[in-house]
Amino acid sequence: MDYTSKIARQVASVPRSGIRDFFELVQGREDVISLGVGEPDFSAPWHIREAAIYSLEKGQTSYTSNLGLLQLRKHISTYVGEFFNVDYSPADEVLVTVGVSEAIDLALRALLNPGDEVVYHEPCYVSYSPSIAMAHGKAVPVATHKSDGFSLKASALENVLTDKTRVVMLNFPTNPTGAIAPKEDLEEIAALCIKHDLIVLTDEIYSELQYDSDEHVSIASLPGMKERCILLHGFSKAFAMTGFRLGYACAPAPIIEAMMKIHQYSMLCAPITSQAAAIEALENGAPAVQRMKESYHQRRDYLVKRLNDMGLECHTPGGAFYVFPDIRKFGLSSKDFAMRLLEEQNVAAVPGDAFGQSGEGFLRCCYATGMDDLKEAMDRMEIFVSTLH
Ligand code: PLP
Repeated sequence: MDYTSKIARQVASVPRSGIRDFFELVQGREDVISLGVGEPDFSAPWHIREAAIYSLEKGQTSYTSNLGLLQLRKHISTYVGEFFNVDYSPADEVLVTVGVSEAIDLALRALLNPGDEVVYHEPCYVSYSPSIAMAHGKAVPVATHKSDGFSLKASALENVLTDKTRVVMLNFPTNPTGAIAPKEDLEEIAALCIKHDLIVLTDEIYSELQYDSDEHVSIASLPGMKERCILLHGFSKAFAMTGFRLGYACAPAPIIEAMMKIHQYSMLCAPITSQAAAIEALENGAPAVQRMKESYHQRRDYLVKRLNDMGLECHTPGGAFYVFPDIRKFGLSSKDFAMRLLEEQNVAAVPGDAFGQSGEGFLRCCYATGMDDLKEAMDRMEIFVSTLH
């Protein structure tokens, strides 16, 4: 059978993830040090794993409410109130999802009619453009630049707005650049979104992982913004719980209701075991988050210094666990650079173009990797770079 004609156009047209493709090359190669996949090298803290085990021991193996356990939603509401400075009602403004990934998909499907445009800053997380396309929307990237610390400027955003623009998607701290938008940039973006009556989908999954300031500014907390924001957050990064697959969306009740409709038919609810673990994470996880954050901070400083010293110029990223060195002066495409680094020195890093066209000329190095491996990777990279001069 010719399956090409059987697959929906909006799915067939979407490419496979550039990161996954690259890392299939690395699979099973023990000689390779990977600065690749954006996943904490820590296991979830033991008390969080114990909470999951205890939940199973108690026989909690049922479905939960479609929105998620009320106890968890109450904890989320308190956490978001304290950390993001926005108040959401646990009754109808919080939806527990299968990772932030599901929340992105639900939000886009709930908001977009075919052909609606979604504007987002690039380089960006690999799922944004495909998720928009699969929700029948049109992806409109706006390039951000090293000279602006990869923040999004309202003027650049305004240039691409049309009467079809419905959603602005933000991600600060950013994967892959580690960028944090200064409050003034967020205020200008907020004013523009109010002026043009746009919904803002703000993916703040790395919000705890900021190294130069303890204050996280969410665009949803700015005056007049809560009513037009969908705030996404989850447990994968700061709590090192990627495999639990748990995230959440906070938004005004009518938007949560629309997202919940899709979630209830496609997913029903997030797994109860993961929800039990998440309650423990929010009740007692802060010290572990702090410890992991301190370790990432140390690694960030080490990596930025080593890369700059060897001539791989990079800005100091304020958050997440990525650095994004500029490789343009070597005259190689980011793919060729990454492939040669892998072949010649057995170090895997992701070519910047995996994060959109404006990532070309850069490399993403993830420092959620132990210090010994990081040191060895930097030594190998230094040898590689010395062969390029
Ligand atoms: N958003 C961003 C910016 C990410 O970097 C990731 C994962 O790397 C996700 C969302 C997906 O997170 P989750 O594990 O919660 O689905």
